[in-house]
Amino acid sequence: MPLLPITDPAIDLDQRYASADNITGKPIYDRAVALLHPDAHAALLRAAGLAAAQGLRLHLFDAYRPVAAQWQLWQTLPAPDFIADPRRGSAHSRGVAVDLTLATAGRVPLEMGTGFDDMTPQSGHARTDIPVPAQHNRLLLLGLMAAAGWRHNPREWWHYNLPDPAAYPLIDDAADGRLLMDLR
Ligand SMILES: [Zn+2]
Repeated sequence: MPLLPITDPAIDLDQRYASADNITGKPIYDRAVALLHPDAHAALLRAAGLAAAQGLRLHLFDAYRPVAAQWQLWQTLPAPDFIADPRRGSAHSRGVAVDLTLATAGRVPLEMGTGFDDMTPQSGHARTDIPVPAQHNRLLLLGLMAAAGWRHNPREWWHYNLPDPAAYPLIDDAADGRLLMDLR
């Protein structure tokens, strides 16, 4: 199953794992190409359309995550509440998960109360101990993502995956380099 690159002009790419601006403090991807399974790709475009109807944009932090990168994250921070054990497999490594936020039409990310990958209880959904505008923005993201067919993660406001991610196979780019090489 080939992964599809996210090239829609309504979606901003800010791939933190391709830069040092992530929890490991170093780049863990050697390229900034955002890929998704075709089912997830279609669902993300539905969400982008709903955001556009609100005058907003999707701002993407991560999509498909190679299995080797999941191991790097796990070895840096083996915190199962926030990072999927690579032996079980992350929905990101199946190409059916995204980490994202909302941004203005001018591409300024909306206030969400905590940052991406801020591994604190305040990053969970339904928190009333963050500013009300941030609660509003999280609920807006939750609503349009749910309407577009995504499921939320109660602990991470930025993470969404398709229902039943385990039904999708793990995609190991080391085992199938063609997936990514063709997109360079
Ligand atoms: Zn995620």
